[in-house]
Amino acid sequence: RDDKIDEIVKAIDEYGSKFLRFQFVDIHGTPKNLSVSLNRPDDVEHIIEDGLLFDGSSVPGFVGINDSDLALKPDLSTFSTLPWRPDEKGACRFICDVYNIDGTPFEGDPRGVLKKSLKKAEERGYQFNMGPEPEFFLIEQDEKGNYKPADDAEYFDVEPLDQGLDVRKEIVLGLEKLNFNIEVSHHEVAPGQHEIDFRFDDALKTADAVVTFKQAIKAMVDNLGYQVTFMPKPFFGINGSGMHCNQSLFKDGKNIFYDPDTETQLSQEAMYFIGGLLEHAKALSAILSPTINSYKRLVPGYEAPCYIAYGLRNRSTLLRIPASRGIGTRIECRSPDPSCNPYLAFAVLLEAGLDGMDNKIDPGEPTEFNAFSLTQDELAEQGIETLPTSLWEAYHSLEKDEVVKNALGDYVYNQFYNIKRAEWDDYRIQVFDYEREKFLNI
Ligand code: GLU
Ligand code: MG
Ligand code: MG
Repeated sequence: RDDKIDEIVKAIDEYGSKFLRFQFVDIHGTPKNLSVSLNRPDDVEHIIEDGLLFDGSSVPGFVGINDSDLALKPDLSTFSTLPWRPDEKGACRFICDVYNIDGTPFEGDPRGVLKKSLKKAEERGYQFNMGPEPEFFLIEQDEKGNYKPADDAEYFDVEPLDQGLDVRKEIVLGLEKLNFNIEVSHHEVAPGQHEIDFRFDDALKTADAVVTFKQAIKAMVDNLGYQVTFMPKPFFGINGSGMHCNQSLFKDGKNIFYDPDTETQLSQEAMYFIGGLLEHAKALSAILSPTINSYKRLVPGYEAPCYIAYGLRNRSTLLRIPASRGIGTRIECRSPDPSCNPYLAFAVLLEAGLDGMDNKIDPGEPTEFNAFSLTQDELAEQGIETLPTSLWEAYHSLEKDEVVKNALGDYVYNQFYNIKRAEWDDYRIQVFDYEREKFLNI
């Protein structure tokens, strides 16, 4: 028997936990779990080792009811306690990989999709690193039940304007108990909006961390009696919430995007990686900005990107190269938002970038001006294209992009495509107050 399992069983016992959760995500990146009762420790050891069978039929993006049995096998390195649970109801959890009952990996498992992409990077000797910057709103409801931001503070404000200070402090302390390496936290630009950044790590650990981050924040904020949303654009007229993705490739412990000898100190590999991200930007959009609401964030004037271009330090372009060099050299993609499934998002970003490197895709010259200041004609003159402006446009771009489809694999691609098309169809037949205000009198 695996020593690690004995160790974990001992840790669970010492923690006094009564339940062990087996966690995974559905196609949207939403965490799901099953709790195993710990009253029969021997059984638990077996379950940890052999996997836990479950019915995958009602999980979005998983399987049909005619063939619904799947198994969860814990990744032992992800064992943790859940600090937001009260002590007397303490629980521990694993993040799991999903398998078919014949022992082969289940193709619809988003974590499996990322693992497959990371393997392609590993075969080339690369470690893919990711540093995400998730933003969110603390919200409250007025007398009529309408949602509004929970404070009126602005970028980097201090108390008493920043009403989220104490909540943020609780969140950071809770995340640190989960071994998060928190770098900075602050009030964001919009009222009620916040950002908490944690240190980059390899993309699989980071994708697990993003899921845990959202899950932990929702639970902790709920415990404190507040409400939180990771919705990309909860309110018209103010900034939405992004989850910028900072990417780098390491080889033998060195950041290969850094080259001290070029003018920009960016390597040729970095330039090709940028080329790949730009080339596939439209199809990537379906995964990085996967909800109807995502496209209401990607409009001019709110620090969210609309134009398929890259810039050095330029916050008006899709890709930005922050000033940091050496180990911190990275490509920031600004379109992802916190509604994306981080496993799928990191997989498609990586494969688009690798495609750029494999096919030596030249990204052209960086955009040095504020892209928002250009008219449509000027953008066309400069050959700058626009990101998809709706989910409909995005999934039609995805349909045509073999690299991004291939990164998802047929199974996830087909599931995703059908779910998103249904989401779009459901939305487009709705009639909103906005339309009555505009058109009632025509
Ligand atoms: N909230 C902005 C967005 O929607 C980003 C602001 C920032 O640069 O941090 O992406
Ligand atoms: Mg931010
Ligand atoms: Mg950023």
